[in-house]
Amino acid sequence: MANVKLENITKRYEDVTAVDQMNLDVEHGEFLTLVGPSGCGKSTTMETIAGLTLPTEGTVEIGGRDVTDLPPKDRGISMVFQNIALFPHMDVYDNISFGLRLRKYDQEEVDRRVEDAADIVQLEGMMDRMPSEMSGGQRQRVAIARAIVRDPDVFLMDEPLANLDAELKVHMRTQLQRLHKQLDTTIIYVTHDQAQAMTMSDRIAVINSGVLQQVASPLECYNKPKNLFVAGFIGSPSMNFMDGEITEDGFSSEYATVNFDPDAHGVDVGQQVTMGIRPEDVHLERDQSNAAEATRTFNVVTDVLEPMGDEQFVYLLMERDVEADAEGRGEGQLLMSLGPDEDIAEGEEISVVFDREKIHLFDTNSGDAIVHGLQPKSVPEP
Ligand code: ADP
Repeated sequence: MANVKLENITKRYEDVTAVDQMNLDVEHGEFLTLVGPSGCGKSTTMETIAGLTLPTEGTVEIGGRDVTDLPPKDRGISMVFQNIALFPHMDVYDNISFGLRLRKYDQEEVDRRVEDAADIVQLEGMMDRMPSEMSGGQRQRVAIARAIVRDPDVFLMDEPLANLDAELKVHMRTQLQRLHKQLDTTIIYVTHDQAQAMTMSDRIAVINSGVLQQVASPLECYNKPKNLFVAGFIGSPSMNFMDGEITEDGFSSEYATVNFDPDAHGVDVGQQVTMGIRPEDVHLERDQSNAAEATRTFNVVTDVLEPMGDEQFVYLLMERDVEADAEGRGEGQLLMSLGPDEDIAEGEEISVVFDREKIHLFDTNSGDAIVHGLQPKSVPEP
């Protein structure tokens, strides 16, 4: 076990800054996931930790040791990547034990380690299978076992489940969590898939354009996103956003007004703010008891329905709040999630409320979060 510390890591490729001034402390035994859209710098960060890439600036420490200039083999790490490179002409046993045999471990030790690792990833009885005789998930487990036998201080996993089908992904997610508990080791994991990040990690590090946005537990990122980027990236489907302005009465935008006392919420009259509300925090007016405290009612028209089985996503068109245009309705879109049993049709006029305690406010210009959850209102809304 070891901690991993990145200090001011910057990696530049000619005119691209892949990683920008990154500071990150991964604790002993932690499962930390680097998450962000494609091209945001996750793999470059990982390669810097692994020693496959030299940072332009900054230092990497593993277990309190500066490893910035050490080759991968001297860093006490094991890596598992998206493209599983098993040796096609070797059976499972030989694939898993290859690195140990290369390092001239004695046979008994090799057998013991291979057996333990195979047990952890549930590959017992498959030692003499060839890779061509295995499914994608089984091959991925061989790759993980091969990383386990090296008994590393730190596991580095870069999109290890990317090539697996959806069902197997969910299965392997559980396996990796179990593996983490069993091995009690530090795992740094890379994915662009926020569902994987949310379900497996102790903490997630959200990256955008090479810049670290927030490092916190999955729920903290979900409930208290530090800025607009994290709010939009974490959570599927995404949070609804509306751009507007602070007035003496609270928030006002083309489609919605929400009353609150600006002073009590740290915002200034005239400030440009973006209001955020997650689909599950929009409720039918008749179900407003589901909201801790409801906003005023918005009249909307249902547009597209997406039944998911356990819930349904309903795309809503909002009426223009400030001034109705010629048709009376604007293009304001809002997504709500409803229980599977709600009887609702496309093109229906319905009334919805927002849960005031679940409303987020962001400074539109800087993107920084200002408020997570409005305070209870002292005066009833009109
Ligand atoms: P991610 O893993 O999040 O998809 P990467 O770390 O692979 O992102 O890439 C971050 C940025 O750095 C991208 O803009 C990518 O094009 C660029 N980049 C990565 N590797 C190289 C390289 N070897 N040469 C030039 N640019 C690179």
